[in-house]
Amino acid sequence: MLLDTLDRPLRDLRISVTDRCNFRCTYCMPKAVFGRDYRFLDRRELLTFEEIERVARLAVGLGVEKLRLTGGEPLLRKDVEHLVELLAGLGVELTLTTNASLLARKAPALAAAGLDRVTVSLDSLDDSTFRAMNDADFPVALVLEGIEAAAAAGLPVKVNAVVKRGVNDEGIVDMARYFRSTGHTLRFIEYMDVGATNGWRLDDVVPAAEIVERIDAEFPLEPVGAQYRGEVAKRWRYRDGAGEIGLIASVTQPFCGDCTRARISAEGRLYTCLFGIRGHDLRALVRSGATDDELIAALSKIWTRRADRYSERRSERTRDLPKVEMSYIGG
Ligand code: SAM
Repeated sequence: MLLDTLDRPLRDLRISVTDRCNFRCTYCMPKAVFGRDYRFLDRRELLTFEEIERVARLAVGLGVEKLRLTGGEPLLRKDVEHLVELLAGLGVELTLTTNASLLARKAPALAAAGLDRVTVSLDSLDDSTFRAMNDADFPVALVLEGIEAAAAAGLPVKVNAVVKRGVNDEGIVDMARYFRSTGHTLRFIEYMDVGATNGWRLDDVVPAAEIVERIDAEFPLEPVGAQYRGEVAKRWRYRDGAGEIGLIASVTQPFCGDCTRARISAEGRLYTCLFGIRGHDLRALVRSGATDDELIAALSKIWTRRADRYSERRSERTRDLPKVEMSYIGG
């Protein structure tokens, strides 16, 4: 088994398939930076589906058990269901993270292509709050339709909500109420200091413990133990049997010690930390004619030298370090 310098195995690979998005979430792709003049990657710069499949196949050979497609908005990548079909052939868990704007249309094809499940990002059920957060005036009703379409196509759904104090935290309990008993697991994510464009401040973070407290006051909760090493979300279940919620507390309860994830940007740069600065250029290797053995050696070298644990080191001094943007690496 491939282990890094802190004995962490490589288990998950997150693959960004585009750096473009049709939302301009204020905390992720603020319009002031990602405006009309922003230069997104050119098509030729993106890894092709065949290149992605090749890298993913070799990573699976090194121990990866879970693949996640992300972006930008992955459903904007033309014919993404063909990529799903290619990756489904690798025989490991295959999932996709989306803002669901195109999910109602795409869910049946994604399910038929072999996607195992889907994670939908949805920060508020309140239409005006949601429209303001996505800054594209996109209505929440269409996201909810996408969720229903995915479920109808047989895809299990998780819903991820990033919580920002004073922006959408008033809606935490409403979201819990809405998704209880639906079978869709709702997970709250602490707002993180990724990238350098969102003006992150610690005061904007609503700690996971506070989120649990607020929901517990209305719908009593009890903790559930982790199911496997590297499980990101801390799980809680409703005492009345109405399902579970998850908390992803990268800020107040960092989990670097259990981080088994690697990430590939849409242009084929490999990052071993969400808070990384420079990735490793796999595309250059792939396009220079590297053999499978050479690629495996490169991946192994990168992983076995890995020592990052940014979230555990987070402090005032790390706040202003240069970091890769979430919209580039995909979360
Ligand atoms: N477009 C897809 C989507 O909406 O899920 C995939 C890419 S998006 C960058 C992945 C996730 O990152 C979303 O759930 C988004 O809310 C989350 N995200 C972006 N910036 C974040 C931040 N600063 N802190 C926490 N989560 C963030």
